[in-house]
Amino acid sequence: MFDKFKDECGVFGILNHPDAANLVYLGLYALQHRGQESAGIASVVPGTSTIYSEKDMGYVADIFSQERIKRLPGDTAVGHVRYSTAGGSMLCNAQPLVASTNKGPVAIAHNGNLVNGPDLRAQLEAEGAIFNTMSDTEAIVHLIARSKEPSLERALVQTLAQCRGAYSIALLTPRRIYVARDPYGFRPLVLGRLDGAIVVSSETCAFDLIGADLIREVRPGEVIAIEQQGDTAATMRVVHHSEGRREARCIFEHVYFARPDSIVFGNNVAEVRRRFGVQLAKEQPVEADVVIPVPDSGVFAATGYAQESGIPFQFGLVRNHYVGRTFIEPKQSIRHFGVKVKLNPVRDLVAGKRIVLIDDSIVRGTTSKKIVRMLKDFGAKEVHMRISSPPTTGPCFYGIDTPERRELIASDHSVEEIREYIEADSLGYLSEEGMLEAVRNGDDPSRLYCTACFSGRYPVLRDTIDREPAAVSEPTKA
Ligand code: SF4
Repeated sequence: MFDKFKDECGVFGILNHPDAANLVYLGLYALQHRGQESAGIASVVPGTSTIYSEKDMGYVADIFSQERIKRLPGDTAVGHVRYSTAGGSMLCNAQPLVASTNKGPVAIAHNGNLVNGPDLRAQLEAEGAIFNTMSDTEAIVHLIARSKEPSLERALVQTLAQCRGAYSIALLTPRRIYVARDPYGFRPLVLGRLDGAIVVSSETCAFDLIGADLIREVRPGEVIAIEQQGDTAATMRVVHHSEGRREARCIFEHVYFARPDSIVFGNNVAEVRRRFGVQLAKEQPVEADVVIPVPDSGVFAATGYAQESGIPFQFGLVRNHYVGRTFIEPKQSIRHFGVKVKLNPVRDLVAGKRIVLIDDSIVRGTTSKKIVRMLKDFGAKEVHMRISSPPTTGPCFYGIDTPERRELIASDHSVEEIREYIEADSLGYLSEEGMLEAVRNGDDPSRLYCTACFSGRYPVLRDTIDREPAAVSEPTKA
């Protein structure tokens, strides 16, 4: 559902391509949905030790003119799109973070959130470190710089062993890009090939745009060096692999965050969402005339629901894609536009109909309530809301900027209470088992996925989670 969750971050990098910065720009363009607050690119010319960097607040297309991309020479570059999940929304927190260390210059792009970020920072500050940003990513740079290991490579491995929580990282150095994923594998990160270059991206949709072929995922716990020897094509070398207690891929990537055309954790996102809808129709059937998605987040689940139930699918709500942050509400005295600015029902498809309304999740409930009311104002006879995930009962601590627990309506309201609040004729959620079944790819998905914001079973905890007022279950034994 639009505007319910802020997105997280996206990472992209390429080594050994004459148009490195241009391709990173395109890659970030494809990953824009993962963060819209700031974007940046850092590049390096082979054989030199200067890292060039351009970053700013705003959208990728607005930040990077051709002029600006020309200021990023070299055949190797990494980039980042950001929504602030740790640290505030300020230019100093925009990534890649560039630093000169005693092991050489680096630029780091990070997706995820370190649950021990505040502890690492406090410890480093107590030892005299000076931070330039409010982001947990800077702690990684400080730890690399302070490591007694002589090489940057070993220092990186040692540093990551001290980081708890979620990280998918691309670290640019004058000769290599190091990529790494935390042992839980919370956030996606994939490797691809484009001619003689190797590319890394948060999602495969960026590979499609630049014509790169998917090689494989960076495995949870892996640290890989992407490098080039002589004039040969870029190669990959696994530097380190740490076995985690379990995997904890973020199921919300499939529910909402990732682009439907991406392959995430080995599954196509659109297909998984369709399967969510099929499962939802099995678990939460209802007699109705039409299945209508809340665009865009409910579309693929709605196709699955329609397919399984035999109820016709219709685009009964039209979304205005051109509403940005710049929309200024006129004075209340003129009119309160609210959700109508973004969505409008198609009267002929809605009037007199019993509607199954499909969305991916309900957070506060306020938007769902407005949509239900709007459909009824346009003559809908009944509105049955169906949600293609379980009730969202807790926040995320692994890099998704979910609202706090007290803002989540399902944290302290029953399904019936939520139904009453949103004024729907009925309300049904997908079960956790049903959701996991849709991503089954062989192994037991309950051992592979994080479902903490639905289940309260947080795979890795931090002090602040322990102090959360509402009940949070013990960490899973794995
Ligand atoms: S808590 Fe939710 S959003 Fe966060 S990693 Fe787990 S499943 Fe994803």
